[in-house]
Amino acid sequence: MNCFYHPDSPSVAACIDCGKGLCQPCTAKFSIAICNDCNAKRNQKDKVTMINILLKKILPSIVLFIVAFLFMHKTGSYSNIYVSIIFGYIVMSIPWGWSRTGDMLGRRRFSFLRSGFLDWCHWSLRISLSFLLGFVFFPLEVIKLIRAAKDSKKIDEAIERDPVNN
Ligand SMILES: [Zn+2]
Ligand SMILES: [Zn+2]
Repeated sequence: MNCFYHPDSPSVAACIDCGKGLCQPCTAKFSIAICNDCNAKRNQKDKVTMINILLKKILPSIVLFIVAFLFMHKTGSYSNIYVSIIFGYIVMSIPWGWSRTGDMLGRRRFSFLRSGFLDWCHWSLRISLSFLLGFVFFPLEVIKLIRAAKDSKKIDEAIERDPVNN
C-alpha cells in the first residue's frame, strides 16, 4: 500500500480513524498517525467543544462575577472595591470547583427522601472544597482552554502544509 497523499511513497502506517495509508513524513506530521481529513474532522469537533465551554461555562461565570460584585458593592457593609472583586471571584469560581470536585469525588444523584447521611457528608465536603479550590480551578481551566485553542490553530496550519513537497 502507498501513501494516500503521495502515491509514489510507500506507506508505513495507517490512519487510526479511517485506515488510509500514510508515508513516513505524513505519519510524523501530527502527534498521532492520522490523515489530514480525519484530523480536520477531530479538530472541528474540538472547536465546537471549546465554543461550548466558552458559552456555557466561561460566559455564565463572568455574569456571576458581575452579579456578585454588584451585590457586594451595593449592599455589603464593605465599601472596599477589592473586597467586592474577591467576593465576585469566589462566587464565580464555585461552579468550576463543583464540577472539578465532582470529577475527584464522584457524583451522587440528589434525592431529598432517599439521600442518607453519607450523601450529605459528600455534598458538604464538595461544597466546602468548591469554595476553597474553585478559585484555583477556574484559571487552570482558562489556561487549558487557551492552550487547546493554540493547539487547534497549529493543527489547522499543519493540515495546510504538505510534509513532502514544501
Ligand atoms: Zn483518516
Ligand atoms: Zn504522505
